[in-house]
Amino acid sequence: MSMFLVLLGPPGAGKGTQARLLAQELKLLHVASGDLFRDAFRAETPLGLKAQEYIGQGELVPDEVTISMVAERLARSDCAEGVMLDGFPRTVEQAEALGRILAQRGACVALVAYIRVRTETLLLRLGGRSTCMSCQAVYHVLYNPPRRPGWCDACGGQLYQRPDDMPSAHRKRIKVYLNQTAPLVEYYQERRILATVDGEQDIEVVQRQLLELVGRAMRTQ
Ligand code: ADP
Ligand code: AMP
Repeated sequence: MSMFLVLLGPPGAGKGTQARLLAQELKLLHVASGDLFRDAFRAETPLGLKAQEYIGQGELVPDEVTISMVAERLARSDCAEGVMLDGFPRTVEQAEALGRILAQRGACVALVAYIRVRTETLLLRLGGRSTCMSCQAVYHVLYNPPRRPGWCDACGGQLYQRPDDMPSAHRKRIKVYLNQTAPLVEYYQERRILATVDGEQDIEVVQRQLLELVGRAMRTQ
């Protein structure tokens, strides 16, 4: 049985942090649209360079580009058993496309876990975030520091501050989230697959609650 899960929430909510932990625990592939864009940018592909124009502005990359990139990723054989989606969908149009892509293979989204966090907290988290250049693991200078400052615990790669994590970009990204992504909470609520988690809690507590929700979704699927 395949398992398609979505982590939804504003920038800084902890989607990437939780997706990594859950993917390990559940042996599911973690697919993050932001990571795919950053990989493409580093490889200097036309897609990566185009996407960076939007990412640098704190805007969403247009739906058409994003949907085809994610559809291509989901078509690969390593996604057959399911994936933990992080950062996708971010618009209603993307959600509709995801539904169609999965329906074509007789699957559907089993659970959308919405990680709710207040804006003040988001700003503190985004301000202290660092990301691994190699494996894209995320850390926080206070809340989740690496063992060796500046270096990734997971792979030993160098940590950097994403350009879109500069303070000037935070509020813009949160505003874009509220306008374009927040409507997905209602969208998935109506489809009765949304569950909300209080993302203000410690990383381990959020993880435990998410695991419980996933377990419940698996039993009822
Ligand atoms: P998102 O993927 O939703 O943008 P991240 O997983 O990158 O969010 O987390 C944003 C920042 O907040 C990172 O620096 C991360 O270490 C930190 N963080 C994530 N979850 C928590 C939490 N529950 N409590 C405190 N800090 C957290
Ligand atoms: P993230 O790593 O999820 O914080 O994403 C970083 C940036 O990549 C976002 O601010 C957007 O510019 C872009 N991006 C990531 N996922 C999407 C998506 N599903 N739709 C549009 N843009 C996206």
